[in-house]
Amino acid sequence: MLRTPLLAAARSPRTRALVEQLPPTRALVQRFVAGDTLDQAVAVTDELVGAGRRISLDHLGEDTSDADQAAATATAYERLLAALRETGLAERAEVSVKLSAVGQSLARDGERIALDNARRICEAAAAAGTTVTLDMEDHTTTDSTLGIARELRADFPWLGVVLQAYLHRTEADCADLAGAGSRVRLCKGAYQEPASVAHQAKAEVDRAYVRCLKTLMQGEGYPMVASHDPRLIRIAGQLAQWQERKADTFEYQMLYGIRPEEQQRLVDTGATMRIYLPYGGEWYGYFMRRLAERPANLAFFLRALATRN
Ligand SMILES: Cc1cc2nc3c(=O)[nH]c(=O)nc-3n(C[C@H](O)[C@H](O)[C@H](O)COP(=O)(O)OP(=O)(O)OC[C@H]3O[C@@H](n4cnc5c(N)ncnc54)[C@H](O)[C@@H]3O)c2cc1C
Repeated sequence: MLRTPLLAAARSPRTRALVEQLPPTRALVQRFVAGDTLDQAVAVTDELVGAGRRISLDHLGEDTSDADQAAATATAYERLLAALRETGLAERAEVSVKLSAVGQSLARDGERIALDNARRICEAAAAAGTTVTLDMEDHTTTDSTLGIARELRADFPWLGVVLQAYLHRTEADCADLAGAGSRVRLCKGAYQEPASVAHQAKAEVDRAYVRCLKTLMQGEGYPMVASHDPRLIRIAGQLAQWQERKADTFEYQMLYGIRPEEQQRLVDTGATMRIYLPYGGEWYGYFMRRLAERPANLAFFLRALATRN
């Protein structure tokens, strides 16, 4: 019930100004975000890699409406990738990129600018010896994102994409993208979408997730199971077993700060476990989507607000 207003608030500049100033916000944000700076991001990456995790770093930001800002975001990724190379972390840490942060939503020439900036990031990743995964945003961007991914894959075949199981189209997209070498991160989907394009009921989304996962696991690509849902994690393990997939032919992924004990349990089984690790000052949209996913997060936030001095 609270999901809809929270996801609407995630895109409201007025609510953003209010929430960012609330004293308890910072404490909760720290649970989901590595910190504001590159150094903090590298330090948390180092710690998690030491604990057996792989990482996908996200330089926070989205919906950029300024071409200079889009180029600055690509530069921030280049610096991040250089730091991963210099610290020897690139072997275990890649990056995730939102195309709207590198220009996709610009009114003029947005797709071309996003493609050019994403290409810069892929070149820096190739130089560092690691990979890039393109995040997926709301459904109005899906065709554009998959089109840009297709172009980039001609030069960077290791480029990963995210597919969202809640979209009706995704079963077909999974079939298209299940070929050899194809890295696909399957998640449920985090945006507010209309019934015309997306399943609305949780049970329907979960069933669609299983159908999509079956297609990816039966294919020849590299499925990335991005979920904290215990049932789906169990099913992913069974599907992998039925397909006789080895631990290095698929991976589990979770968000930083969510179900750390389960992350450790999966590491202990010998599975590949990657943590999506955001950093930077532009945490608002990401943070609001995490509140929307779990009422307990919002309750914690409101309690902290009510009891502050
Ligand atoms: C690595 C990764 C990358 C992602 N990339 C994208 C993307 O590009 N585009 C996109 O639309 N979505 C993305 N998502 C988000 C995803 O779509 C879901 O919104 C999110 O993962 C919650 O769904 P779930 O599968 O964990 O299942 P849910 O049914 O939502 O949750 C299952 C259980 O996980 C725990 N949990 C889930 N969310 C939270 C939370 N916020 N706080 C605390 N506990 C929680 C709870 O115990 C919950 O019962 C990504 C998720 C991951 C893990």
